[in-house]
Amino acid sequence: MFDSGMKKNDIFEKFEKLAERYHGVATLGTQPFGMVFDEILSPTRARVGSREVILAGTNNYLGLTFSEACTTAAKAAIDHQGTATTGSRLANGTFREHLELETALKAYFNAASAIVFTTGYQANLAAISALVGRGDHLLIDADSHACIYDGCRLSDAETIRFRHNSPEDLAKRLSRLPDDGARLIVVEGLYSMLGDVAPLAEFVDVASEHGAFLYVDEAHSVGCYGERGRGVAQAQGVLDKVDFLSGTFSKSFASLGGFCVSRHESFEYTRLVSRPYLFTASGSPANIAAARAALATIAGSDELGRRLWDRANQLHSGLRAAGFEPASAPGPIIALPRADETTAVREWNALLEAGVYVNLAVPPATPQAKSLLRLSVSAAHSESEIDQILEVFNALSDLVS
Ligand code: PMP
Repeated sequence: MFDSGMKKNDIFEKFEKLAERYHGVATLGTQPFGMVFDEILSPTRARVGSREVILAGTNNYLGLTFSEACTTAAKAAIDHQGTATTGSRLANGTFREHLELETALKAYFNAASAIVFTTGYQANLAAISALVGRGDHLLIDADSHACIYDGCRLSDAETIRFRHNSPEDLAKRLSRLPDDGARLIVVEGLYSMLGDVAPLAEFVDVASEHGAFLYVDEAHSVGCYGERGRGVAQAQGVLDKVDFLSGTFSKSFASLGGFCVSRHESFEYTRLVSRPYLFTASGSPANIAAARAALATIAGSDELGRRLWDRANQLHSGLRAAGFEPASAPGPIIALPRADETTAVREWNALLEAGVYVNLAVPPATPQAKSLLRLSVSAAHSESEIDQILEVFNALSDLVS
């Protein structure tokens, strides 16, 4: 695949080891990285080659991708506004609907400011890099998502990592900082790999004791936690104490795009300085319309959330009964740490062949260099689909050997 030719100081040489690992994985069965879904049949079903599989690794937590509300809104947006905005938010890329979505987000989170970005990745990149700069201090949870790390790199602030989910370690590091420079703490509500929840109420206390701002990425938790899906901060009673809350439209919102809301009105000025906001095209009409429809659905009823939690509890307890040890308490993300990468890859293939798709997550994308089978639950899963998934997991050791 990587034909380096005869050039000196080959720029592709560094990929060789990675390529070896990438191709090595495929010798154990199907290539798991970038696997192709030939047909998407529903939020919980797809065809892979000639096989129909149950999807248990999609982040489609509320199952809204095929909902009447989202598909109708997206189709109407294309009919009335076309397929693209063809420009950045500051130039020609702000349509009435982008503003209406921001207004709806402000109302939903009771925020003073809301900005919609083209992806969730860019929301973190844009907000973090604009909020702090040279002479400031960023304190980030060690298990932070790549886009939080990248946002830190894009800012010129000093970045300090603290122990995962440890308010004590955070407080220790804050107490060692000089007095000058702003302090921004960045954590997630629900961690995407292990499915563990942050002690946000404690982080709020530490932030206020040390004069720091608190930024919470709720990409995986909005829609799943809290009243009307407002996330972990709301569930822990501290939504009004969080300074910045970011999220994505690519999971529960069944679309594409991201957002950051704030209780500080001055967050609005981010629009004037933030490069990942200024120098990229805005979200397409279809994406914005689908996100708005999803938000209305989520804000309007707890029904889907309840269904999601019923299925999450069913899957979590069933996996435990089958002898597996999920990394965290029941929730929409259920991670099963495996002994090593080869075991995880073999099991992933066996599951796929038996008609169940889960995520394979391996280092460096995982905390503590764990190899994981990562399952995500959807409100669209039926009780019997969860039973079918469990049946396959019950037989897994026989399927692999
Ligand atoms: N934050 C977290 C915690 C994520 O897991 C992700 C994506 N997996 C993002 C942000 C980025 O979201 P998007 O896919 O919308 O770019």
